[in-house]
Amino acid sequence: MTKSELLSLLRDAESVLWDAVCRNVSGAEKTHQRIARALRAEDAATPDGTCASCGNALTQPSTGRPRTYCGGACKKRAQRARARGTGQ
Ligand SMILES: [Zn+2]
Repeated sequence: MTKSELLSLLRDAESVLWDAVCRNVSGAEKTHQRIARALRAEDAATPDGTCASCGNALTQPSTGRPRTYCGGACKKRAQRARARGTGQ
């Protein structure tokens, strides 16, 4: 099974679990939260899990906002590149 097949399965499971959450099925809410969080992280992350600026491997935090850059320097560099790109 490829990663994208797995992700599409998880998306199906997420909507089924959401129905279960709405019907107050025991344990559904916790599992739904975990799947929804994993899917959000996957949507936001770079496709190969590397820093969008320097290409170093990224470790994603288990909670909170998923990382796109490995650190502040790479984030700043990308911001400057964007600013140049839009002519500002
Ligand atoms: Zn970087």
